[in-house]
Amino acid sequence: MKKKLVIVLLALLSVVCLSFGLAACGGEEEGSHTHEYGELVKEVPATCTTKGMQAHYYCAGCGQYFNEDKEEISEADLIIQIDSTAHTYDEYVNEVPATCSKTGMQAYYHCACGKYFDEDKKETSIEMLTIPIDKNAHNIIHIGAKSATCISKGWNEYACEFCDYSTIVEIEIDPYAHSYNSNNICIYCNSAWSYTKNLQYELNPNNSSYYVKGIGLSTDENIILPYYYEGLPVIAIGDSAFKDTSLKSITIPESVTSIDSSAFEDCTSLTGVYITDIAAWCNIEFGGYTANPLYYAHNLYLNNKPVTEITADMLQGVTKIKDYAFSGCTSLESATIPDSVTSIGRVVFNECTSLTSVELKNGQSPKTAAKINVQ
Ligand SMILES: [Zn+2]
Ligand SMILES: [Zn+2]
Ligand SMILES: [Zn+2]
Ligand SMILES: [Zn+2]
Repeated sequence: MKKKLVIVLLALLSVVCLSFGLAACGGEEEGSHTHEYGELVKEVPATCTTKGMQAHYYCAGCGQYFNEDKEEISEADLIIQIDSTAHTYDEYVNEVPATCSKTGMQAYYHCACGKYFDEDKKETSIEMLTIPIDKNAHNIIHIGAKSATCISKGWNEYACEFCDYSTIVEIEIDPYAHSYNSNNICIYCNSAWSYTKNLQYELNPNNSSYYVKGIGLSTDENIILPYYYEGLPVIAIGDSAFKDTSLKSITIPESVTSIDSSAFEDCTSLTGVYITDIAAWCNIEFGGYTANPLYYAHNLYLNNKPVTEITADMLQGVTKIKDYAFSGCTSLESATIPDSVTSIGRVVFNECTSLTSVELKNGQSPKTAAKINVQ
């Protein structure tokens, strides 16, 4: 019995050995194994600084390399030698123009080997790429200003950020640039602001300003509001102030910052709105669409001239244009809004039937253009 068991075990062993042997690397010595080629390792090309390697298989079991046909090959034979022309171009570097104090540099590529290449990837050098200093290429910034007044010139001063170049540009005297004191007298030229007397005023709750409450005892049809009343600024036109009057024109000074919703209700005779400062006008808080007297008057006059265009210059320094600012203004034909304006209210140009172009400078989106209701 015991002998028979041994024979069976031996037979089993030989079957195992045989099957193992059939699967082993063909014709190899004892200790050999089945190569595991795995995926073909793709060729890594050589560059100007690093060696490459041909496509190959690698058996991790025995550490043997094989070529694409799965023939044994040494690692050394797979190596591709450094190719001095095979540059790896780093990211494209945009041209940096020269300034009045610094050289510039043409657009280029750079390679890890230290070489420089022009836009067409032709080899060049830093010296060749360098753009010489351009004495006139200042970077001008606005460094100071004084406004012109009704009697004196103003100026703008500009300077270069990089060198000591600077220049002053004069601003002509502006005969309308008065500045009124609390007696409505210009502090520069002493001229008096002639305004409509006998209007009705009301002190604002903070006791530091007035608003126009009504036409009072005045019979004028062309009303000119004062800057100051009893020494305090007139900052608003109140509800129903001129409602149902035969008002033909209204002159609104810069001191006014808000107009209530029904201030000009049913003022159907109104044909002109007169202002002295477009920036101040842009800043008025209208209590609604019809609060703006342009809804009835249609014609806006700046220093007695019809406003047919709004230029970037006129809006210099303006940051906000409030809701309804030019709504109903049919005298307006074009508007250019400078990039100093960062906030544009709703329906700013609604019913501006003569307006054919509104140019928005940088920083304003097409969404903004839609918002201002350009027709
Ligand atoms: Zn192997
Ligand atoms: Zn290179
Ligand atoms: Zn300069
Ligand atoms: Zn003056």
